[in-house]
Order: sequence, then C-alpha cells, then structure tokens
Amino acid sequence: MVQPDLQTVRLSNGKEITVHTQLFINNEFVPGHGPLIETINPATEEVICSVHSADKQDVDAAVNAAATCFKDTWRKVAPAEKARLIHKLADLMERDRDELATLDALDNGKAFTVARDVDITDSIACYRYFAGWADKIHGKTIDTTFDKLCYTRHEALGVVGAVIPWNYPTMMAAWKFAPALAAGNCIVMKTSEITPLPAYKFAALVKEAGFPAGVVNIITGYGHTTGSFLGSHPLVSKMAFTGSTATGRKIMESSSSSNLKKLQLELGGKSAQIVCADADLDKAAEWSCGGIFNNHGQSCNAGSRILVHESVHDQFLELFIKHTKAMIKIGDPFDEDTFQGPQISKGQFEKILNYIEIGKKEGAIVSYGGKRWGNKGYYIEPTVFTNCHNQMRVMREEIFGPVVVIAKFKTIEEAIDIANDSDYGLAGGVYTTDLDTAITVTNEVKTGTMWVNCFDVFDQSTPFGGYKQSGFGKELGKYALQEYTQVKVVKILRSSKI
Ligand code: NAD
Repeated sequence: MVQPDLQTVRLSNGKEITVHTQLFINNEFVPGHGPLIETINPATEEVICSVHSADKQDVDAAVNAAATCFKDTWRKVAPAEKARLIHKLADLMERDRDELATLDALDNGKAFTVARDVDITDSIACYRYFAGWADKIHGKTIDTTFDKLCYTRHEALGVVGAVIPWNYPTMMAAWKFAPALAAGNCIVMKTSEITPLPAYKFAALVKEAGFPAGVVNIITGYGHTTGSFLGSHPLVSKMAFTGSTATGRKIMESSSSSNLKKLQLELGGKSAQIVCADADLDKAAEWSCGGIFNNHGQSCNAGSRILVHESVHDQFLELFIKHTKAMIKIGDPFDEDTFQGPQISKGQFEKILNYIEIGKKEGAIVSYGGKRWGNKGYYIEPTVFTNCHNQMRVMREEIFGPVVVIAKFKTIEEAIDIANDSDYGLAGGVYTTDLDTAITVTNEVKTGTMWVNCFDVFDQSTPFGGYKQSGFGKELGKYALQEYTQVKVVKILRSSKI
C-alpha cells in the first residue's frame, strides 16, 4: 500500500504536528517511486516518520512540470504579479512561522527559538527582498551605429535545479527559491534526505499563495540517485547547489556530461578569525564564540580556526571559555533557553568525535569540552582545542561541528599566511581597533566574505559566496540575480534614415 501523504508526529514537548511526506510536483503531493526514507529526530535518535523519495521517473515528472509551466505560463506572468505572489508567500510564512520553526527544530535538531528568530525570520526577509526585485530586472539600450537599435534583455533561464543540504533546511531553500522566482524561473528543488519535512510545509504555502502549478516543485531522495538524476537532466538549465566540496565536484561532472548547465556552487569552508593584539578582547571572544558555535558549528562559514596574537593568547582563551560557558546552553531543541541542540545525524556525530580524537593524537590540547553530552541524542560539548598549528588535520579539514582550533601568531603577515593556507575561501574575520590593520587583512585574506569586529552577520542585500574550493557564484543581494538570468543582445537594423 502506498504511504498516505499526511502523517501525525509527536514532538518532545508532547505536542503533535501533521507533516507532508509525499513529493510536491505540479502543485500536488504525489507518491514517489523511490524507496521510503526514514527521517530521524537527532535529539532522540528515534524515527520521526518515513518520506517518499523520487526516482528517475519522478525527477522527470518534476522537471517536465517545471518546463511546461515555464513555457506556457510563468514566463507570461507580469513581473509585478510575480512580486505579489512572492510577497503573499512571505505573508503565509509569517502566519505559520511557529510551525515552520517547529519542523526545522524537529528534523534538524536546531533550537526552536533560533529557528523561529533567525532561520524563519531571515527566510521571510529573503522572500520579501527578492519580491522587491521582481519588477526591477531589466536590460539596457546600447548606442552602436546610427542605423541600429541595440538592447539587452535579462532573461530567465527556464528550469532551475536546486540541491540543498540539511543545516538550514528553510533558509537554504529561501536563498535559492527567492532569487530564482523573482528572476522568472521555474524550479525543481531536491531537499536533503536528512531533513525533508520543512520544505513540504513550505510547498503547501506555495500552493495556498496561488502560484501556478509547476513553478515550484520539491522532491527529496538520496544524492547519488535523485540528486544525480536532477543534475544530469537535459531540460534543467542551471544547478544551484549548496553542500560539500566533494558533491560540488560531482555536480560539475554531471553538468559537463549532460548539457553544460550554468552552475552555482556554495561549498565548504574552514574560515579563520584573526584576533590582533590591539583588539577589544572581550568583544572579540564573544563574537568569535558565536562565529564557531552558532548552529552547533554546522555552518559552511563557521569561524572554525581562531588565530590569536601570542601576546594576548592566554587572556583571550580565558575570555573565550567564559563566553562559551555563558552562551551555550545545550538541551532539547524545544526548551526555550536551549542554544545548542544535537548534531544532525549519527554519521556526523561519530565523525566529529573522531576528529576530536585525531586532534588529541596530533598534539592539540582540549582546553574545554571534548566529549559527548548526555547519553541520548547526537549531542557534543562545545570543544576548544589549543596548541594547534596549520599542519594538523583539525586545522585544515572541515569538521562541521562545535569544535574550534586555536593557534598563535607573531606577526600580521603570518596570520594572513595561515588564514590563506587553506583549500577553502568562504569567509573570515579580523578583530582589531586599528583601521589600517583591518583594511590590510580584509584585502589580503582570500575569501568571499570578511567580517571586521563581528562574525556570521548576514543581510539579504549583501552577497555571499566563496573563493577557491568553497565554490563560485553569489547568493543574496542584487548579485544573486545574475546567477538566475542570462543576457541576450538584440540588434535591430533600421530600414529608413532621417
Ligand atoms: P552533501 O554534499 O553531502 O549533501 C548536500 C546535498 O547534495 C544533499 O541534498 C545530498 O543529497 C546532495 N547530493 C549528494 N550527492 C549528490 C550527487 N552526486 N548529485 C547531486 N546531489 C547530491 O553536504 P551535506 O552533508 O548535506 O552538508 C554539509 C556541507 O555543506 C558542508 O561541507 C558545508 O560546508 C556545506 N555547506 C555550504 C554552504 C555554503 O553556502 N557555502 C552552506 C551550507 C552548507
């Protein structure tokens, strides 16, 4: 028997919530032909429910729905009407903010209050920001010769394929849906098989908002099957991907072996936070603590390497541990005062604990934490390694958990060299009271974002994206619109002259 779409699940606070479990294609929830996938509550290690997954024929159905809708309907809808629909969607998200946050907390393990006040709030802002752009995307007229009219059009790409990870289930979707829709595209998004539930609630809101069938299609499934089918589909014009660098490479391969899709890759990171001797050390400790431990260390831009001037190292460490103790209350995601919930999965939990062992063997010193927290759920103590140097694996590899490595530097040139001695180039930060030092470091560190005297500060209007093996292309801000449009040049020869 086919598993029905709606399932009722119980939360750790005793409340119940109804979730969609089928694929969302052409504005309908439909069964998938792939295997059912169990989604796990990382706070309890128990199965929440099973969801349908998409096999090749489901991916085909979703892409065809999007392609047909683009050709027959969506490209003819006025930009102002597109803006109205996106705003309406944001209104509905606002109305159902708590339910969306509940699903993020349940499926991902992040604190409900953080999901509500950061993930969902910022996602709504993202839809509103790009709704504002929908009727302001246009080309230019270009003077060439007297007898010609030349102009450019910024055209939608058609069908955008999107693949997102599990760390911000609603927000990563927003960063792709919002600009893609505003620029006039139809979309097929594959969510992470680890956190499939929040996007299906969003799908129901898409339908309620009144989007034409086929504009938004949401499916889930494993990467090597569903994701790979989507990435190699000939009717998909572009892949927007967020995830690991290893998977980014596979998406590039499937694009090149199919139809040379336009690509946008947001990949991993090992971002450095540089604390100078002249910094306000207490503030630097507080910001850098959030910079690594926000979202349980599961952020691509996490400031997971802290480089501290040797003269202030011990003082900084004391302050850093003080702020870690004050900021991080570990607990059930639905407790009001929880800051840190469990890691996403058993696999990630074991990988992070293994990295802690690797760090110890490499000679790093555990100055705080270093163990599992509790005996149920994938919880790990915030962990601070000191005595680190850049040849250690824990300094070079993305741990993607609440583990920070701290190293000393002597000169600012040395700090810049260490920061740049990485395959990644997503983000970085510098804490200093000297303007010249701030400018030098932000200019010299090879990353897509640099923060000064703060970290992990995002805004819908400012672009975000990586250098080096952290990927290419920009999300957010006006820059994101370039990723979802292509420029056509039209040259018209006039038949008569004055
Ligand atoms: P992942 O690469 O394992 O999976 C990401 C998504 O890709 C999932 O939906 C997965 O099913 C899919 N996938 C896997 N193989 C695929 C394939 N062959 N073809 C198509 N899709 C495939 O990453 P993850 O473990 O879900 O997320 C963590 C990683 O994401 C980290 O490395 C992190 O740094 C990165 N990340 C980057 C950003 C950014 O903006 N740069 C943001 C969040 C996460």
